[in-house]
Amino acid sequence: MRAREPAVLAYRFEEPAGADRGDARFLRVRGLLEEAAEAVGEWVGLARPVPVVVRSCGGEGSSYDPEEQRVEICYEEVSETRDLFRGTGRGRADEEVAAVLLETVLHETAHALVDVLALRVTGREEDFADQFAALVLLDGSAVGERRLRAAAEAWRLSARLTEDAGETDGKQAPDEHAPDHERAVNEYCYVYGSAPGRHGDLVGPDTLPAERAPGCAEEWTDVRADWLTALGPAGRDPDA
Ligand SMILES: [Zn+2]
Repeated sequence: MRAREPAVLAYRFEEPAGADRGDARFLRVRGLLEEAAEAVGEWVGLARPVPVVVRSCGGEGSSYDPEEQRVEICYEEVSETRDLFRGTGRGRADEEVAAVLLETVLHETAHALVDVLALRVTGREEDFADQFAALVLLDGSAVGERRLRAAAEAWRLSARLTEDAGETDGKQAPDEHAPDHERAVNEYCYVYGSAPGRHGDLVGPDTLPAERAPGCAEEWTDVRADWLTALGPAGRDPDA
């Protein structure tokens, strides 16, 4: 615990649009932003916190705004994520929905860190940001592993929806992110690599391909090392 240090995230909740009230309540009651701030603070110290605005985005997704140097998180994504899981026949999925939103906050925070700390990025910045989210979530606890699995599952479901909609033939809107399926596989690989003995069930053609699985422990070690190197003096290793 480093409670006396300044927070790394300075978040505020805007008044939600009527339809988003339930989603706004969900994020507040769950304390998702507090949790994100605390977890990121385990890895990095900042002289000035990153501003985070949680708001109704009216169709745009959560993002990092480099002009304003602030993270924007959208209330609507709570409902969107819930719909995604509901499509699989699962009922209430509060834990999974919260995990996906937390992962989104961490991903966007990574973009903010790359910008404000002028970090040297290993590979594509989008992948690097996903790796930061994995790094923060996989804190060695079973809860962390479940959360990253939920986030990966959301990407997998989202990829499947896109396929079903026949959008895989290049008509998909251009997006700087890796295709959803690829993001899912990467995250499955990190969960598996962080604790191979516990996630054998993830290996499969639709989740983590058997040919990639054996290399995931090393991939995971590299992810940790790359981020610690990039963060340099601003970073710290919670496990050190
Ligand atoms: Zn991104």
